[in-house]
Amino acid sequence: MKEFYTLADLQSWGEKGKSPVRLGVFGDPVAHSLSPQMHNAALENLGVKERYGRFQIGADELRTGLELIRCLNFIGINLTLPHKTTALPLMDEVDDAARKSGAINTVLVEGEKLLGFNTDGPGFLHAIRSEFSVDLRDLRVLLLGAGGGAGRAIAMQCARENCERLVLVNRTLEKAQDLAKELAPYFSGSRVLGPVARLQAIPWDETSLRFQLANTDLVVNATSVGMKRSDPRLLAASLLAPHLMVYDTIYTPMRTPLLAAAADAGALGANGLSMLLHQGALSFEIWFGRKAPLDVMRAALL
Ligand code: NAP
Repeated sequence: MKEFYTLADLQSWGEKGKSPVRLGVFGDPVAHSLSPQMHNAALENLGVKERYGRFQIGADELRTGLELIRCLNFIGINLTLPHKTTALPLMDEVDDAARKSGAINTVLVEGEKLLGFNTDGPGFLHAIRSEFSVDLRDLRVLLLGAGGGAGRAIAMQCARENCERLVLVNRTLEKAQDLAKELAPYFSGSRVLGPVARLQAIPWDETSLRFQLANTDLVVNATSVGMKRSDPRLLAASLLAPHLMVYDTIYTPMRTPLLAAAADAGALGANGLSMLLHQGALSFEIWFGRKAPLDVMRAALL
């Protein structure tokens, strides 16, 4: 197997004989993805001969890439940055929850049809339970990066779980405001929290964040800030406090600048490896219609 494949590889897939790679992840960049080691361990463990590869597919190559897997007898693929939103209209059918979150991360090839799903939200739900032994529905959540694909999926999951409160923060405030309007019906119930609103979109400034963090249990980073060595801390340690749980959806590096700030503030922190594991296990179940070997996948990631 190659470190990663390209669109050119897919275009000459048939000429190279029958490849065992019939699953994979499309992304740009994709070299950092840990999905192959997790899925290949699961496939091997269950005695399935197919394998999972990385595919370096740029934004302008997505349509062709999807058309190719449709006729190359693939089982399915995952989608990562920057494809989750743009792939949605390219599907033949989209699962209802994925359509509501406006993005897909899992494609199942069924006959000639491409079926789209999103396991990021449910994966996040399982990850929070496994990392902090709490249920999302009991938490007051502050979500950084509510305007992106992962942010939307996480916000939708918080809404579906009817969490205690949800504060949406995004660099481009309008996107968070639009999302808040969309989610308002989920938060119209009768949970009473005192003076703070159950659902709010706020600007990314220190004063607003400081006020909201005093009424928050769980801080989530769903931005891409923290992946590059040169990235700044998303929040200063002085804004965080020991009562907080901090979940960074990023997992490379394992200790992100935000998690370093959380540790400095005495808060509990966890990186996105658990979300990767659980969203991957749910994708696996969509592809094979059977339970994924979670322990094997976890061990492969660690
Ligand atoms: P995306 O759709 O491109 O969204 C990027 C988000 O980051 C947007 O909200 C964007 O704000 C924000 N952002 C980008 N640069 C920023 C900056 N300098 N300051 C503040 N905000 C900034 O990406 P995505 O697919 O949602 O992925 C986002 C992150 O989630 C990535 O780090 C990815 O690794 C992680 N993720 C992890 C898992 C997992 O399984 N652990 C799964 C999915 C995603 P604007 O709207 O203002 O542009």
